[in-house]
Amino acid sequence: MSEACLHCGACCASFRVSFYWAETDAAEGGAVPAELTVPVTPWRVAMRGTETAPVRCVALQGEVGQQVGCSIYAARSSTCREFTAGDERCADARARHGLPPLSAVIDDLHGVHAVLAG
Ligand code: SF4
Repeated sequence: MSEACLHCGACCASFRVSFYWAETDAAEGGAVPAELTVPVTPWRVAMRGTETAPVRCVALQGEVGQQVGCSIYAARSSTCREFTAGDERCADARARHGLPPLSAVIDDLHGVHAVLAG
C-alpha cells in the first residue's frame, strides 16, 4: 500500500468488493475471514459492507481521505490486491469522496519538493 493510499481508502468505500468464495477461510488455503463476507452468487462472496450502498468495507479502519488502514491487510482478497492505485477506477473512487485524482496529489508533492529543494 502506497503512502497516498494510507490517506485515502476511497476504493474500499466505493465499489462492491467480490471474489471467489474459496479465497475465504471457509475453504482450505483461503485467508479472508469468512465472517466478514456475504454471499452474492452461489460461487462469489463480497466483503461485508460493500454489497449495498452506502459502500464501506467492514475491514476498513479510519476516515476516508484522512488516515485509513485495512484490518485484514495480509489476508485481503485478490480483488483488493489487484486494485491499481492511480488508474481510472481509483480516480472514480476518489471523486466519489470529493478527492482529486492521485496524479494531481503526486504532482502537488513534486511541486512542494521542488520548492523545498530549490
Ligand atoms: S478488505 Fe481491506 S483492502 Fe479490501 S476493501 Fe476491505 S478494507 Fe479495503
